[in-house]
Amino acid sequence: MRRSRKRPWSEPHVPLDAEKARGGVRSARGPGGHDFQVRSIPNGVKDYVCPWCNRTIPAGTAHIVAWATENLFGADAAIADRRHWHTGCWAAAERTG
Ligand SMILES: [Zn+2]
Repeated sequence: MRRSRKRPWSEPHVPLDAEKARGGVRSARGPGGHDFQVRSIPNGVKDYVCPWCNRTIPAGTAHIVAWATENLFGADAAIADRRHWHTGCWAAAERTG
């Protein structure tokens, strides 16, 4: 059987980073030294209040959503308890722990 010539762009390619492969979620050491799952939101659909600075994250703003990896009440509860952060505030929280 004759096989079509392999095109260079048909090579299976490895995702650039694991973050993409997992839908944009990454693990991070966040406030209090706890492990968090962190996801970037390109544009929020409504206003949120950032727990770090207590200021509003206006709808349409790129920001971070984070939830604890470990939760006494399980993964679903952890996700239900997620918080929205300013990108810069989350970075500050990661730095300071
Ligand atoms: Zn903030």
